[in-house]
Amino acid sequence: KDFRNKVKPNWCPGCGDFSVLAAMQRAFANLGKEPEDVVLVSGIGCSGRISGYMNAYGFHGIHGRALPIAQGLKLANRDLTVVAAGGDGDGFAIGMSHTIHAIRRNVDITYIVMDNQVYGLTKGQTSPRSEMGFKTKSSPKGSIEATIAPLEMALTAGAGFVAQAFSSDLKQMTRLIEEGLNHKGFSLINVYSPCVTYNKINTYDWFKEHITSLDGDEAYDPSNRMLAMQKLMETNGLVTGLIYQNKERQPYEDLIPGFSETPLAKQDLKLPKEDFDRLVAEFA
Ligand code: SF4
Ligand code: MG
Repeated sequence: KDFRNKVKPNWCPGCGDFSVLAAMQRAFANLGKEPEDVVLVSGIGCSGRISGYMNAYGFHGIHGRALPIAQGLKLANRDLTVVAAGGDGDGFAIGMSHTIHAIRRNVDITYIVMDNQVYGLTKGQTSPRSEMGFKTKSSPKGSIEATIAPLEMALTAGAGFVAQAFSSDLKQMTRLIEEGLNHKGFSLINVYSPCVTYNKINTYDWFKEHITSLDGDEAYDPSNRMLAMQKLMETNGLVTGLIYQNKERQPYEDLIPGFSETPLAKQDLKLPKEDFDRLVAEFA
């Protein structure tokens, strides 16, 4: 199935988000998904536009609120493949409390963050992922705040799946998204997705010089949470691959007492028509 649509993205040429879009489209197709079974929910930011570029259901939500919408969708219809996507500002600033609680709640959705360490849509301000000393319009003398470490945060919040990709490696990113989609429970995939217009420090070349990959590292065991934390701290988060996976943890849906296998959206409410009409009239 082709998950591409005819809408031309209006991202700047070279923006890392193009690769994220392509990797998602490939991952859905490779896993044999049908467009009508996939929902992509996004927040606000350049990254938030992604839901309009996919041949699937799309929901462009409000700033930092992609995750509540995505979790609600999944709980109403667990037959759907639900993916939330956004940027570092969206997920790790205004939406951070949703991110933490969605991780610990563990609804079976996939969250893809396009992390460019800056606010792109609003023309270049310091984000929680910007490095100390990073100069923007909002920090002209350089940022004096510490950078948030989202993957360490995810591990301490009880994440069952944590991975990281880089926009230059489409093959690895596609594979990690497939693994995240196959994981039963909440999966977080952070993607270093360079903003070529407003981040002149963390460029493609800078990442190529600093990043290491876990692919092919036989000694690394992604089921070991302590090792995952150690790896992230040692590399200052500049590592790609499957960082941590706990295959034992059950998703939220499976733990709700009496939660039916039949999605709520497909259950017969057995509501007499006159009661239904009365309810609609009440809320009209
Ligand atoms: Fe991408 Fe940055 Fe351009 Fe936004 S401003 S589309 S993040 S390169
Ligand atoms: Mg950003």
